[in-house]
Amino acid sequence: MAVRTAILCLMLATSLRAADAWTWWVDDCSGPALASGCHNDDAELARWAFEAWQRESGNQITFTKSAIREHARLTVHWLTEASLYGETRRVTVDGKPGAEIYILPEGTSTHAKDPLLRDAIVFLTFVHETGHALGLAHTANFEDIMYTFQFGGDIPAYFDRYRRLLSQRSDIALHSGLSEGDRRALRAILVH
Ligand SMILES: [Zn+2]
Repeated sequence: MAVRTAILCLMLATSLRAADAWTWWVDDCSGPALASGCHNDDAELARWAFEAWQRESGNQITFTKSAIREHARLTVHWLTEASLYGETRRVTVDGKPGAEIYILPEGTSTHAKDPLLRDAIVFLTFVHETGHALGLAHTANFEDIMYTFQFGGDIPAYFDRYRRLLSQRSDIALHSGLSEGDRRALRAILVH
């Protein structure tokens, strides 16, 4: 019996890996960053994106705001010149995996009639780039948050699909944007 208990404990130790604690920082949307089209409350969209990954992982990975920018494992910067939605460079921070996340937030000008669509696009960009920071690669499945437009596809339809889930900004906190394929990919990296 003691042996069986020991084996059970060993199995639990393997499947219940210690929570991976990620800390994050979002650069202020002020000064030169304003040229990016960022909004003051875009940091909230970033936080919701991190919380979406935490929720989807069943709290196996956690995200908290870093008290000190230099020690944040994930740092979000505002891009002012780029043709991309975002870009992620994985780095090492204090000996742990981390990432520099560059976001090109759309201004409201292109979505003047629908600011919620603009926020949805910025949020989904945060979710996608955070996926890279966690180690997820691009997919060719249009349903996935890790889909890349390099495979083509109807980009407005991609964002409208998520926009239709929202009736107000706070609804973004309720919808991660992940597909079943994304969840499988997340589970696959969590067990390693
Ligand atoms: Zn990507």
